[in-house]
Amino acid sequence: MTHTLSAQKRIAIIGAGPGGMALALILQKHGIQSVVYERELQNSNRQRGGSLDIHEESGQRALREAGLYEKFKEIIRLEGEDFRVLDKTGKIYIDEDAEMDSSGGRPEIDRGDLCDLLMNALDPDCIRYGYKLERAVSLGDGRTELHFENGEVDTVDMLVGADGAFSKVRPLLSDARAEYSGLTMIELNVLNAAQSHPDLAALNKRGKLFALSDSKGILGQLNGDGRIKVYASFEAEQNWLDNCGIPFERPEEAKQRLLELFEDWDDSLKNYIRYADGAILPRRIYMLPVGFTWKHQPGVTLIGDAAHVMSPFAGEGVNLAMLDALELALALVEHDDINAAIQAYEPKMYQYTSEKAKESDDNLKLTFSDGAAQKLTDLMNRIYEEHGVH
Ligand SMILES: Cc1cc2nc3c(=O)[nH]c(=O)nc-3n(C[C@H](O)[C@H](O)[C@H](O)COP(=O)(O)OP(=O)(O)OC[C@H]3O[C@@H](n4cnc5c(N)ncnc54)[C@H](O)[C@@H]3O)c2cc1C
Repeated sequence: MTHTLSAQKRIAIIGAGPGGMALALILQKHGIQSVVYERELQNSNRQRGGSLDIHEESGQRALREAGLYEKFKEIIRLEGEDFRVLDKTGKIYIDEDAEMDSSGGRPEIDRGDLCDLLMNALDPDCIRYGYKLERAVSLGDGRTELHFENGEVDTVDMLVGADGAFSKVRPLLSDARAEYSGLTMIELNVLNAAQSHPDLAALNKRGKLFALSDSKGILGQLNGDGRIKVYASFEAEQNWLDNCGIPFERPEEAKQRLLELFEDWDDSLKNYIRYADGAILPRRIYMLPVGFTWKHQPGVTLIGDAAHVMSPFAGEGVNLAMLDALELALALVEHDDINAAIQAYEPKMYQYTSEKAKESDDNLKLTFSDGAAQKLTDLMNRIYEEHGVH
Protein backbone atom coordinates (compact mmCIF):
# COMPACT_ATOMS: atom_id res chain seq x y z
CA MET A 1 0.00 0.00 0.00
CA THR A 2 1.24 3.50 -0.77
CA HIS A 3 1.73 5.76 2.22
CA THR A 4 -0.22 9.04 2.10
CA LEU A 5 2.97 11.14 2.20
CA SER A 6 4.17 9.78 -1.15
CA ALA A 7 1.00 10.83 -2.94
CA GLN A 8 1.42 14.45 -1.93
CA LYS A 9 5.03 15.19 -1.18
CA ARG A 10 8.26 15.24 -3.15
CA ILE A 11 11.23 14.10 -1.07
CA ALA A 12 14.80 14.60 -2.31
CA ILE A 13 17.84 13.04 -0.67
CA ILE A 14 21.21 14.49 -1.64
CA GLY A 15 23.96 11.83 -1.70
CA ALA A 16 23.94 8.10 -2.45
CA GLY A 17 26.33 7.05 0.32
CA PRO A 18 25.25 4.48 2.91
CA GLY A 19 23.06 7.02 4.73
CA GLY A 20 21.16 8.33 1.70
CA MET A 21 20.60 4.89 0.21
CA ALA A 22 19.45 3.37 3.53
CA LEU A 23 16.93 6.20 3.93
CA ALA A 24 15.55 5.81 0.39
CA LEU A 25 15.30 2.06 0.87
CA ILE A 26 13.50 2.10 4.23
CA LEU A 27 11.08 4.70 2.83
CA GLN A 28 10.56 2.50 -0.23
CA LYS A 29 9.77 -0.47 2.04
CA HIS A 30 7.02 1.65 3.58
CA GLY A 31 5.65 2.79 0.23
CA ILE A 32 7.12 6.29 0.38
CA GLN A 33 8.94 7.37 -2.76
CA SER A 34 11.99 9.60 -2.79
CA VAL A 35 14.62 10.64 -5.28
CA VAL A 36 18.35 10.41 -4.48
CA TYR A 37 20.59 12.89 -6.29
CA GLU A 38 24.26 11.80 -6.46
CA ARG A 39 27.11 13.87 -7.91
CA GLU A 40 29.14 10.86 -9.11
CA LEU A 41 28.32 9.37 -12.51
CA GLN A 42 27.89 5.89 -11.00
CA ASN A 43 28.10 4.07 -7.67
CA SER A 44 31.67 4.79 -6.55
CA ASN A 45 31.39 3.68 -2.93
CA ARG A 46 33.77 0.77 -3.56
CA GLN A 47 36.61 3.23 -4.12
CA ARG A 48 35.86 5.11 -0.91
CA GLY A 49 37.22 3.32 2.11
CA GLY A 50 37.67 -0.16 3.39
CA SER A 51 36.17 -2.53 5.87
CA LEU A 52 33.48 -1.31 8.28
CA ASP A 53 32.20 -2.96 11.43
CA ILE A 54 28.43 -2.87 11.56
CA HIS A 55 27.00 -2.54 15.04
CA GLU A 56 24.01 -4.48 16.34
CA GLU A 57 22.20 -1.49 17.88
CA SER A 58 22.54 0.83 14.85
CA GLY A 59 23.74 -0.36 11.44
CA GLN A 60 22.29 -3.85 11.85
CA ARG A 61 18.94 -2.44 13.03
CA ALA A 62 18.70 -0.33 9.88
CA LEU A 63 19.54 -3.33 7.69
CA ARG A 64 16.83 -5.38 9.40
CA GLU A 65 14.27 -2.63 8.74
CA ALA A 66 15.45 -2.43 5.12
CA GLY A 67 14.82 -6.19 4.77
CA LEU A 68 18.49 -6.90 4.09
CA TYR A 69 19.66 -8.53 7.32
CA GLU A 70 19.68 -12.12 6.00
CA LYS A 71 21.61 -11.14 2.87
CA PHE A 72 23.99 -9.09 5.03
CA LYS A 73 24.70 -12.13 7.21
CA GLU A 74 25.69 -14.12 4.13
CA ILE A 75 28.53 -11.73 3.25
CA ILE A 76 29.86 -10.54 6.60
CA ARG A 77 33.32 -11.45 7.85
CA LEU A 78 33.11 -12.48 11.50
CA GLU A 79 36.86 -13.12 11.60
CA GLY A 80 37.35 -9.43 10.75
CA GLU A 81 36.91 -8.68 14.44
CA ASP A 82 40.46 -9.93 15.17
CA PHE A 83 42.23 -6.98 16.79
CA ARG A 84 45.86 -6.30 17.66
CA VAL A 85 47.53 -3.32 19.31
CA LEU A 86 51.31 -2.90 19.16
CA ASP A 87 53.83 -0.15 19.71
CA LYS A 88 56.53 0.93 17.27
CA THR A 89 58.98 -1.74 18.52
CA GLY A 90 56.51 -4.47 17.57
CA LYS A 91 55.64 -5.27 21.20
CA ILE A 92 52.11 -6.70 21.32
CA TYR A 93 49.70 -5.20 23.89
CA ILE A 94 46.36 -6.62 22.71
CA ASP A 95 45.89 -9.76 20.63
CA GLU A 96 42.23 -10.67 20.35
CA ASP A 97 40.67 -13.36 18.18
CA ALA A 98 37.15 -12.80 16.90
CA GLU A 99 34.31 -14.79 18.35
CA MET A 100 32.86 -16.69 15.40
CA ASP A 101 29.24 -16.31 16.51
CA SER A 102 27.06 -14.73 13.82
CA SER A 103 24.45 -13.24 16.17
CA GLY A 104 24.89 -9.59 17.12
CA GLY A 105 28.42 -8.27 17.59
CA ARG A 106 30.24 -6.04 15.17
CA PRO A 107 30.94 -8.10 12.03
CA GLU A 108 32.95 -6.58 9.19
CA ILE A 109 31.80 -5.84 5.66
CA ASP A 110 33.55 -3.89 2.91
CA ARG A 111 32.03 -0.49 2.22
CA GLY A 112 31.56 -1.45 -1.45
CA ASP A 113 29.65 -4.63 -0.55
CA LEU A 114 27.42 -2.78 1.92
CA CYS A 115 26.58 -0.08 -0.62
CA ASP A 116 25.93 -2.65 -3.39
CA LEU A 117 23.53 -4.44 -1.04
CA LEU A 118 21.58 -1.22 -0.48
CA MET A 119 21.72 -0.08 -4.10
CA ASN A 120 20.58 -3.41 -5.55
CA ALA A 121 17.46 -3.36 -3.36
CA LEU A 122 16.44 0.14 -4.46
CA ASP A 123 14.09 0.83 -7.37
CA PRO A 124 16.50 1.39 -10.27
CA ASP A 125 15.10 4.82 -11.11
CA CYS A 126 15.35 6.09 -7.51
CA ILE A 127 18.99 7.25 -7.79
CA ARG A 128 19.95 9.94 -10.32
CA TYR A 129 23.68 9.94 -10.96
CA GLY A 130 25.51 12.97 -12.33
CA TYR A 131 23.48 15.44 -10.22
CA LYS A 132 25.87 17.53 -8.16
CA LEU A 133 23.96 19.93 -5.95
CA GLU A 134 25.47 23.39 -6.26
CA ARG A 135 22.96 25.45 -4.35
CA ALA A 136 19.76 24.94 -2.36
CA VAL A 137 17.40 27.90 -2.04
CA SER A 138 14.66 27.96 0.58
CA LEU A 139 11.32 29.14 -0.85
CA GLY A 140 10.16 30.10 2.65
CA ASP A 141 7.18 27.74 2.80
CA GLY A 142 9.13 24.56 3.61
CA ARG A 143 9.85 23.88 -0.05
CA THR A 144 13.38 24.12 -1.44
CA GLU A 145 14.65 24.79 -4.94
CA LEU A 146 17.62 22.65 -5.91
CA HIS A 147 20.15 23.84 -8.47
CA PHE A 148 22.44 21.20 -9.94
CA GLU A 149 25.76 21.65 -11.72
CA ASN A 150 24.30 19.99 -14.85
CA GLY A 151 21.82 22.87 -15.15
CA GLU A 152 18.78 20.97 -13.84
CA VAL A 153 16.51 22.56 -11.23
CA ASP A 154 14.01 20.74 -8.99
CA THR A 155 11.58 21.98 -6.34
CA VAL A 156 10.91 19.65 -3.44
CA ASP A 157 8.71 19.52 -0.32
CA MET A 158 11.38 17.82 1.77
CA LEU A 159 15.15 17.99 1.42
CA VAL A 160 17.50 15.60 3.25
CA GLY A 161 21.22 16.33 3.17
CA ALA A 162 23.02 12.97 3.13
CA ASP A 163 25.90 14.55 1.25
CA GLY A 164 28.72 14.01 3.69
CA ALA A 165 31.21 16.21 5.53
CA PHE A 166 31.04 19.15 3.12
CA SER A 167 27.27 19.15 2.74
CA LYS A 168 25.71 21.73 0.43
CA VAL A 169 22.44 21.35 2.32
CA ARG A 170 23.89 22.23 5.76
CA PRO A 171 24.18 26.00 4.97
CA LEU A 172 20.35 26.14 4.91
CA LEU A 173 20.43 25.20 8.60
CA SER A 174 23.67 26.50 10.05
CA ASP A 175 26.90 28.39 9.38
CA ALA A 176 28.93 25.58 10.97
CA ARG A 177 31.57 23.96 8.83
CA ALA A 178 33.50 20.75 9.26
CA GLU A 179 36.92 21.67 10.68
CA TYR A 180 40.22 19.87 10.25
CA SER A 181 40.71 17.56 13.28
CA GLY A 182 44.52 17.83 13.26
CA LEU A 183 44.91 14.26 11.97
CA THR A 184 46.20 13.36 8.52
CA MET A 185 45.83 9.78 7.26
CA ILE A 186 47.68 8.44 4.23
CA GLU A 187 45.79 5.53 2.68
CA LEU A 188 47.78 2.72 1.03
CA ASN A 189 46.84 -0.78 -0.13
CA VAL A 190 48.76 -4.06 0.06
CA LEU A 191 46.99 -6.24 -2.51
CA ASN A 192 46.56 -10.03 -2.17
CA ALA A 193 48.41 -9.87 1.13
CA ALA A 194 48.18 -13.59 1.99
CA GLN A 195 49.79 -14.64 -1.32
CA SER A 196 52.15 -11.73 -1.92
CA HIS A 197 53.34 -10.99 1.62
CA PRO A 198 52.56 -13.87 4.00
CA ASP A 199 54.76 -12.31 6.71
CA LEU A 200 52.62 -9.16 6.81
CA ALA A 201 49.38 -11.15 6.51
CA ALA A 202 50.41 -13.24 9.54
CA LEU A 203 51.25 -10.13 11.57
CA ASN A 204 48.00 -8.38 10.66
CA LYS A 205 45.85 -11.50 11.18
CA ARG A 206 42.26 -11.45 9.86
CA GLY A 207 41.10 -8.08 11.15
CA LYS A 208 42.64 -4.84 12.35
CA LEU A 209 46.07 -3.98 13.69
CA PHE A 210 46.89 -0.65 15.31
CA ALA A 211 50.60 0.14 15.81
CA LEU A 212 50.80 3.30 17.92
CA SER A 213 53.74 5.37 19.22
CA ASP A 214 54.98 8.97 19.30
CA SER A 215 51.57 10.43 18.32
CA LYS A 216 51.68 8.42 15.10
CA GLY A 217 50.05 5.23 13.91
CA ILE A 218 50.25 2.56 11.27
CA LEU A 219 46.79 1.05 11.03
CA GLY A 220 46.19 -2.11 9.00
CA GLN A 221 42.83 -3.58 8.10
CA LEU A 222 42.24 -6.76 6.08
CA ASN A 223 39.46 -6.27 3.52
CA GLY A 224 37.18 -8.87 1.92
CA ASP A 225 39.09 -8.86 -1.38
CA GLY A 226 42.36 -9.89 0.30
CA ARG A 227 43.96 -6.46 0.41
CA ILE A 228 45.27 -4.91 3.59
CA LYS A 229 44.16 -1.31 3.68
CA VAL A 230 46.78 0.73 5.48
CA TYR A 231 46.49 4.15 7.08
CA ALA A 232 49.81 5.80 7.94
CA SER A 233 48.46 8.41 10.35
CA PHE A 234 49.86 11.34 12.29
CA GLU A 235 49.06 14.75 13.67
CA ALA A 236 49.97 17.51 11.22
CA GLU A 237 49.22 21.13 10.41
CA GLN A 238 46.21 21.61 8.13
CA ASN A 239 48.41 22.63 5.18
CA TRP A 240 51.08 19.96 5.80
CA LEU A 241 49.94 17.92 2.79
CA ASP A 242 50.35 20.96 0.53
CA ASN A 243 53.79 21.86 1.88
CA CYS A 244 55.40 18.50 2.65
CA GLY A 245 56.71 18.05 -0.89
CA ILE A 246 55.85 14.33 -0.96
CA PRO A 247 54.93 13.39 -4.55
CA PHE A 248 51.83 11.30 -3.79
CA GLU A 249 51.18 10.95 -7.52
CA ARG A 250 54.46 8.98 -7.74
CA PRO A 251 53.77 6.17 -5.24
CA GLU A 252 57.25 4.59 -5.10
CA GLU A 253 58.92 7.93 -4.26
CA ALA A 254 56.13 8.82 -1.85
CA LYS A 255 56.59 5.51 -0.02
CA GLN A 256 60.29 6.29 0.55
CA ARG A 257 59.38 9.67 2.02
CA LEU A 258 56.68 8.12 4.22
CA LEU A 259 59.17 5.54 5.49
CA GLU A 260 61.37 8.42 6.68
CA LEU A 261 58.48 9.56 8.90
CA PHE A 262 58.48 6.12 10.53
CA GLU A 263 62.29 5.71 10.45
CA ASP A 264 62.71 4.28 13.96
CA TRP A 265 59.75 1.86 13.69
CA ASP A 266 60.23 -1.91 13.58
CA ASP A 267 60.80 -3.30 10.08
CA SER A 268 57.79 -5.60 10.37
CA LEU A 269 55.59 -2.49 10.70
CA LYS A 270 57.38 -0.48 8.01
CA ASN A 271 56.48 -3.34 5.65
CA TYR A 272 52.91 -2.01 5.64
CA ILE A 273 54.32 0.94 3.66
CA ARG A 274 57.08 -0.90 1.75
CA TYR A 275 54.73 -3.55 0.36
CA ALA A 276 51.96 -1.13 -0.70
CA ASP A 277 50.79 -1.30 -4.33
CA GLY A 278 49.29 1.34 -6.60
CA ALA A 279 47.83 4.73 -5.79
CA ILE A 280 48.29 6.48 -2.44
CA LEU A 281 45.46 8.61 -1.11
CA PRO A 282 46.24 11.34 1.43
CA ARG A 283 43.27 12.38 3.59
CA ARG A 284 42.70 15.11 6.11
CA ILE A 285 40.24 14.05 8.79
CA TYR A 286 37.46 16.58 9.44
CA MET A 287 34.89 16.89 12.20
CA LEU A 288 31.92 19.02 13.18
CA PRO A 289 31.90 20.39 16.74
CA VAL A 290 30.93 17.71 19.29
CA GLY A 291 27.26 18.29 20.16
CA PHE A 292 26.52 20.21 16.93
CA THR A 293 22.82 21.12 16.54
CA TRP A 294 20.88 23.63 14.43
CA LYS A 295 17.68 25.58 14.66
CA HIS A 296 14.87 23.56 13.09
CA GLN A 297 13.81 24.77 9.65
CA PRO A 298 10.69 23.46 7.93
CA GLY A 299 11.22 20.90 5.20
CA VAL A 300 15.00 20.43 5.59
CA THR A 301 17.17 18.11 7.64
CA LEU A 302 20.49 16.24 7.63
CA ILE A 303 21.61 12.66 8.21
CA GLY A 304 25.00 10.96 8.51
CA ASP A 305 28.28 12.81 8.08
CA ALA A 306 26.40 15.91 6.88
CA ALA A 307 24.92 16.14 10.40
CA HIS A 308 27.81 14.93 12.54
CA VAL A 309 31.03 14.06 10.72
CA MET A 310 33.53 12.79 13.28
CA SER A 311 36.95 11.13 13.24
CA PRO A 312 36.80 7.38 12.53
CA PHE A 313 38.10 6.36 15.99
CA ALA A 314 34.83 5.16 17.45
CA GLY A 315 33.99 3.18 14.25
CA GLU A 316 30.57 4.83 14.30
CA GLY A 317 30.28 6.97 11.14
CA VAL A 318 28.56 4.52 8.86
CA ASN A 319 26.53 3.03 11.71
CA LEU A 320 25.17 6.42 12.72
CA ALA A 321 24.43 7.33 9.09
CA MET A 322 22.25 4.22 8.82
CA LEU A 323 20.67 4.73 12.25
CA ASP A 324 19.75 8.31 11.26
CA ALA A 325 18.23 6.91 8.06
CA LEU A 326 16.17 4.47 10.12
CA GLU A 327 15.00 7.06 12.66
CA LEU A 328 14.07 9.64 10.03
CA ALA A 329 12.28 7.09 7.85
CA LEU A 330 10.27 5.75 10.80
CA ALA A 331 9.38 9.31 11.86
CA LEU A 332 8.06 9.97 8.35
CA VAL A 333 6.06 6.76 8.47
CA GLU A 334 4.58 7.63 11.88
CA HIS A 335 3.70 11.28 11.17
CA ASP A 336 1.74 12.33 8.11
CA ASP A 337 3.30 15.77 8.39
CA ILE A 338 6.90 16.33 7.24
CA ASN A 339 7.72 18.90 9.91
CA ALA A 340 6.31 16.82 12.72
CA ALA A 341 8.53 13.98 11.48
CA ILE A 342 11.65 16.18 11.33
CA GLN A 343 10.92 17.54 14.80
CA ALA A 344 10.61 14.02 16.16
CA TYR A 345 13.83 12.90 14.46
CA GLU A 346 16.25 15.74 15.17
CA PRO A 347 16.32 15.81 19.02
CA LYS A 348 16.60 12.03 19.17
CA MET A 349 19.46 12.05 16.66
CA TYR A 350 21.30 14.86 18.53
CA GLN A 351 21.28 12.79 21.69
CA TYR A 352 22.75 9.54 20.40
CA THR A 353 25.20 11.19 17.98
CA SER A 354 26.65 13.68 20.48
CA GLU A 355 27.63 10.79 22.79
CA LYS A 356 29.38 9.03 19.92
CA ALA A 357 31.05 12.22 18.69
CA LYS A 358 32.50 12.76 22.18
CA GLU A 359 33.69 9.14 22.32
CA SER A 360 35.24 9.47 18.88
CA ASP A 361 37.05 12.69 19.83
CA ASP A 362 38.32 11.18 23.10
CA ASN A 363 39.56 8.11 21.23
CA LEU A 364 41.28 10.26 18.62
CA LYS A 365 43.17 12.15 21.34
CA LEU A 366 44.09 8.95 23.15
CA THR A 367 45.20 7.10 20.00
CA PHE A 368 47.66 9.85 19.09
CA SER A 369 48.97 10.64 22.58
CA ASP A 370 52.21 9.46 24.23
CA GLY A 371 52.07 5.85 25.38
CA ALA A 372 48.93 5.26 23.29
CA ALA A 373 49.32 1.48 22.99
CA GLN A 374 49.27 1.09 26.79
CA LYS A 375 46.46 3.66 27.21
CA LEU A 376 44.29 1.94 24.60
CA THR A 377 44.91 -1.40 26.34
CA ASP A 378 43.89 0.08 29.70
CA LEU A 379 40.76 1.62 28.14
CA MET A 380 39.71 -1.66 26.53
CA ASN A 381 40.30 -3.57 29.77
CA ARG A 382 38.08 -1.07 31.61
CA ILE A 383 35.34 -1.48 28.98
CA TYR A 384 35.56 -5.28 29.21
CA GLU A 385 35.38 -5.14 33.02
CA GLU A 386 32.28 -2.94 32.84
CA HIS A 387 30.66 -5.45 30.47
CA GLY A 388 31.83 -8.50 32.42
CA VAL A 389 33.98 -9.80 29.52
CA HIS A 390 37.21 -11.73 30.34
C1 LIG B 1 39.68 6.99 6.58
C2 LIG B 1 38.30 6.75 7.07
C3 LIG B 1 38.01 5.57 7.73
C4 LIG B 1 36.70 5.34 8.21
N1 LIG B 1 36.45 4.19 8.89
C5 LIG B 1 35.21 3.98 9.38
C6 LIG B 1 34.91 2.79 10.13
O1 LIG B 1 35.76 1.93 10.35
N2 LIG B 1 33.63 2.64 10.60
C7 LIG B 1 32.66 3.56 10.36
O2 LIG B 1 31.53 3.38 10.81
N3 LIG B 1 32.92 4.67 9.66
C8 LIG B 1 34.15 4.90 9.17
N4 LIG B 1 34.41 6.04 8.48
C9 LIG B 1 33.33 7.02 8.31
C10 LIG B 1 32.31 6.63 7.25
O3 LIG B 1 32.97 6.38 6.02
C11 LIG B 1 31.30 7.76 7.10
O4 LIG B 1 30.84 8.15 8.37
C12 LIG B 1 30.10 7.31 6.26
O5 LIG B 1 30.51 7.01 4.95
C13 LIG B 1 29.03 8.43 6.23
O6 LIG B 1 28.00 8.08 5.33
P1 LIG B 1 27.12 9.19 4.65
O7 LIG B 1 26.17 8.44 3.78
O8 LIG B 1 26.60 10.12 5.68
O9 LIG B 1 28.11 10.08 3.77
P2 LIG B 1 29.14 9.69 2.63
O10 LIG B 1 29.55 8.27 2.71
O11 LIG B 1 30.20 10.74 2.67
O12 LIG B 1 28.30 9.85 1.30
C14 LIG B 1 27.94 11.12 0.81
C15 LIG B 1 27.49 10.98 -0.63
O13 LIG B 1 27.05 12.26 -1.08
C16 LIG B 1 27.60 12.56 -2.35
N5 LIG B 1 27.67 14.02 -2.47
C17 LIG B 1 28.49 14.86 -1.79
N6 LIG B 1 28.26 16.13 -2.16
C18 LIG B 1 27.28 16.09 -3.08
C19 LIG B 1 26.60 17.11 -3.82
N7 LIG B 1 26.92 18.40 -3.69
N8 LIG B 1 25.61 16.73 -4.68
C20 LIG B 1 25.27 15.40 -4.82
N9 LIG B 1 25.91 14.42 -4.13
C21 LIG B 1 26.88 14.76 -3.27
C22 LIG B 1 28.94 11.87 -2.33
O14 LIG B 1 29.45 11.62 -3.63
C23 LIG B 1 28.62 10.57 -1.58
O15 LIG B 1 28.15 9.56 -2.44
C24 LIG B 1 35.69 6.29 7.99
C25 LIG B 1 35.97 7.48 7.30
C26 LIG B 1 37.27 7.72 6.85
C27 LIG B 1 37.58 8.99 6.13
